[in-house]
Amino acid sequence: MLRFAPSPTGDMHIGNLRAAVFNYIIAKQKGEKFLVRIEDTDLSRNIEGKDKEILAILNLFGLLWDDLVYQSHNFKHHHSFAQHLIKENKAFYCYCTKEFLEQKKQEAIENKVAFRYDDAWAELEKQSNLKPVVRLKGAKESIEFYDEIKGHLQFAPAEIDSFVILREDGVPTYNFACACDDMIYNIDFIVRGEDHVSNTPKQILIQTSLGYDKKIGYAHLPIILGESGRKMSKRDSASSVSWLLEQGFLPQAIMNYLISMGNKTPTEIFTLSEAIEWFDITNIAKSPVKFDIKRLRYINREHLKRLNEDEFALLLQSKDTTIGAIGKIYLEETSTLNEIREKIEMIFSPKDIKKLYENENFEFECIELFKVLDLLIMQESKILDDYDSFKNEAMKLSNLRGKKFFKPLRILLTGESHGVDLNILYPYIRFYLKDILRIRGENDISQHI
Ligand code: GLU
Repeated sequence: MLRFAPSPTGDMHIGNLRAAVFNYIIAKQKGEKFLVRIEDTDLSRNIEGKDKEILAILNLFGLLWDDLVYQSHNFKHHHSFAQHLIKENKAFYCYCTKEFLEQKKQEAIENKVAFRYDDAWAELEKQSNLKPVVRLKGAKESIEFYDEIKGHLQFAPAEIDSFVILREDGVPTYNFACACDDMIYNIDFIVRGEDHVSNTPKQILIQTSLGYDKKIGYAHLPIILGESGRKMSKRDSASSVSWLLEQGFLPQAIMNYLISMGNKTPTEIFTLSEAIEWFDITNIAKSPVKFDIKRLRYINREHLKRLNEDEFALLLQSKDTTIGAIGKIYLEETSTLNEIREKIEMIFSPKDIKKLYENENFEFECIELFKVLDLLIMQESKILDDYDSFKNEAMKLSNLRGKKFFKPLRILLTGESHGVDLNILYPYIRFYLKDILRIRGENDISQHI
């Protein structure tokens, strides 16, 4: 079984989503189940509703789980495993106070040595501190494992001293709950962020201390860097999956991008089911990857191009195929749904003819042309049927030529002074001309006529 183990403590980060996608793909490739485990053991950091948000995102991306568990439901198992370890003398109660440990840490800093918990301290404060934690006895031998991305990794015993598995309130630590649950659910392979590399030997030690000798496979993903070249933090808005969705990036494009980061892929643009055919975690580069929003924009546009007009319209919250067709035309100069929405809104909003377009104001020409177009539309003239006859007639009646005709025409039809080919756009806006031909401001056009 493969698993994705998010903590409901904040927004879903793209690094988390990337781990979820890879675990899901590998589960499908191996024909194994995919478990979602909400790691809600850090009660003080849990945020109400974040679990639902994470599940909704997984759903939206098509990462459907076979099983869902909340880690806190397994507390009873964690406790019985801890009791077992105590009985076997592999874990012990530690009564050290925080102040005592802090003082030992300070001493280590002053002596310029790495801090290491000494098992002899365990009961020194037994009289004054009634609330012990439980620690697992540190490693006696080095612990090694093979990481599919980083290669062979080895940790000396000195790096793994006796560490806490149950806090003083009895709540299991992340490492303990995680290692127990990976055993309980018979997890085979784990993909997660490289910030967990140093946790892995601890989790292996917990499992071997419990007599579990199954070799779990690991792949720790390199961190994602922001545009600045520093680790992408929660403060970088593009690191939040919800933010990217709000900007109008498609789930399939975000997924395509996350799979292709630091990877060799047979094609640039692909779907999740295509990736399941060829994905190989060992191809993921060891070095950190930079989040490149320009590349994501390109991939998004390519996925939008693959949609038909009806699908496109639905994404623009319209049932009208024509809106989808207009959206597709605008892909020439946009990359996200929001940008396309903005263009369509401009077409249908009253036009700001007082605005300076490229340092030139076409207010007078717009008014002249408006009068002509208004008349043509009122007459429901046949001339409106195709762009050429419409344009020729409008030019003739308005007496405007060259850019003094074309710029105002474009402004009146699209709200912009340059953009997509009007010849291509016209057939789709033809039946909306009445709605489109409106001018903004208190100086309504009627006052000029
Ligand atoms: N809850 C941990 C996290 O979100 C899970 C890490 C793991 O996959 O073990 O980082």
